[in-house]
Amino acid sequence: MLEGRQQLVYGPVPSRRLGRSLGVDLVPLKTCSYDCVYCQLGRTTRKTVRRQRWVDPSDVVAQVRARLESEPDVIALAGSGEPTLHAGIGDVIAGIKRLTDIPVAVITNGSLLGRPAVRRGLADADIVLPSLDAPDDSLFRLINRPHSTLRFDDVVDGMITFRKGYRGQVWLEVMLLADVTGIASEVERLAELAARIAPERIQLNTAVRPPAESFVAPVSAGSLQAFARLFAPHAEVIADTAPAGGDRVAARADILALLSRRPCTVADIAAGLGIHHGEALKAVTALVTEGALELHSHEDRSFYVAASVTVENRDEERS
Ligand code: SF4
Repeated sequence: MLEGRQQLVYGPVPSRRLGRSLGVDLVPLKTCSYDCVYCQLGRTTRKTVRRQRWVDPSDVVAQVRARLESEPDVIALAGSGEPTLHAGIGDVIAGIKRLTDIPVAVITNGSLLGRPAVRRGLADADIVLPSLDAPDDSLFRLINRPHSTLRFDDVVDGMITFRKGYRGQVWLEVMLLADVTGIASEVERLAELAARIAPERIQLNTAVRPPAESFVAPVSAGSLQAFARLFAPHAEVIADTAPAGGDRVAARADILALLSRRPCTVADIAAGLGIHHGEALKAVTALVTEGALELHSHEDRSFYVAASVTVENRDEERS
């Protein structure tokens, strides 16, 4: 179990795929079946395929209820690890569905969809967003660095089986990395696999946020548009969320909760928390001065990250 009374719900955050998304964290930071080279949360510190009740589903549902007044577009089970590693994910989804009609989405790496219990747990979600980043086993190992028990063919077969039995929408994310999978021959192979999975939508992404490994580089916007046409149906390129600042005063706890899940620009923070750009800038500048946030540069853009995340990752590397 997670210790103490943790903040399990954060945002709404500006999701590039879902709009204003109320994030729900079901597993501890970097508890995942993968260790993706592009992960924006750094290296995986607990690589596992063992499902547990990391947190009480009724606590999660109570925290969601308390945040519904923020009027998110969607409630997304995602956060700081792989949400299907929570053995009670079905109870969480059922509890949220009893509270609200706001759609529930699950952002998953898809690695456990071959398991009947995982498919049953996701049955009542409105949208499931799995990832497909590699066209074969060797690139799967290079990019996703999966748990040793996971086989690429089984993961793809699991996604196909899930799609056949699931009533909701499946939106497949394909993450392309420059000079690795961001080349036409690899994209064509990914497109063939995506057609077999047969999702409602295919969404192309690239490493726009600071990655776990420094050799990871994003594919250019022009190349992404060209690659999108290789998919049938054509893939969408996920555009960066535009800033849309409001006038709510930034709550320090909200900013820290948001930035402990994902690195954000000032524009992301303003859009996600519904605050003015200047207010967001003022708040993060103060938090950097205090040492609670760090500023990282990636591809000529400035991202803020909670210092607790980088410290946790450094500690894990040392141990
Ligand atoms: S990107 Fe997602 S699937 Fe990959 S290591 Fe990070 S949390 Fe896990």
